[in-house]
Amino acid sequence: MKNKNAALVCFSGGQDSTTCLFWALRNFTEVETVCFTYGQKHSIEVDYACSIAEKRNIPFHLLDVSLLGQLAPNSLTDSSIVMDNDKPDESYPNTFVPGRNLIFLTFAAVLARSRGIYNIVTGVSEADYSGYPDCRDTFIRSLNVTLNLAMDERFELHTPLMSRDKSEVWELADELGVFDLVRNETITCYNGIPADGCGHCPACKLRREGLDKYLRRRTSR
Ligand code: ZN
Repeated sequence: MKNKNAALVCFSGGQDSTTCLFWALRNFTEVETVCFTYGQKHSIEVDYACSIAEKRNIPFHLLDVSLLGQLAPNSLTDSSIVMDNDKPDESYPNTFVPGRNLIFLTFAAVLARSRGIYNIVTGVSEADYSGYPDCRDTFIRSLNVTLNLAMDERFELHTPLMSRDKSEVWELADELGVFDLVRNETITCYNGIPADGCGHCPACKLRREGLDKYLRRRTSR
């Protein structure tokens, strides 16, 4: 049976998807999560995601799509590739995993449909990032149409962070009452260090800059 009040959240245990999880809990009465393993170096992410979901009795589905990491060499899955700190000219940093969101959202939709869920939430944003093509609104809208055509259904892809920079993602977490939880219980760091992380990888820098920007805004109110 179709449940209009249910949502499936693509959930990695990081700042963005955790904020999305609590956004979904605010907006839907039934929420489930799906987490993907794709050969990422730090499986600790999965432990964090699982722990956040389990503590709140939120169903947690773990899907293995490790073929993705094998097909597309990138610095998140291959220890021999040194991570790009900056975006190279005319290409993407090697933290880009080609097809990742296409694969994740497609599997999420198949799983959601089997659970009678048609709202799918993802924490992609086209602000403040390296310009990954599969984080853009155009791609999400296009995929939404494709998923509906592929399964003759009416999925709705929700992207509450699409136009938010990192400081605004912190702000949303604060509005949702989970600022401390997101700060202390999530893992965003490319080097696999929880909470404030290693401090120097691109993900930590982005997270920290956003946090500092938001805290300055919050204290000046
Ligand atoms: Zn880091």
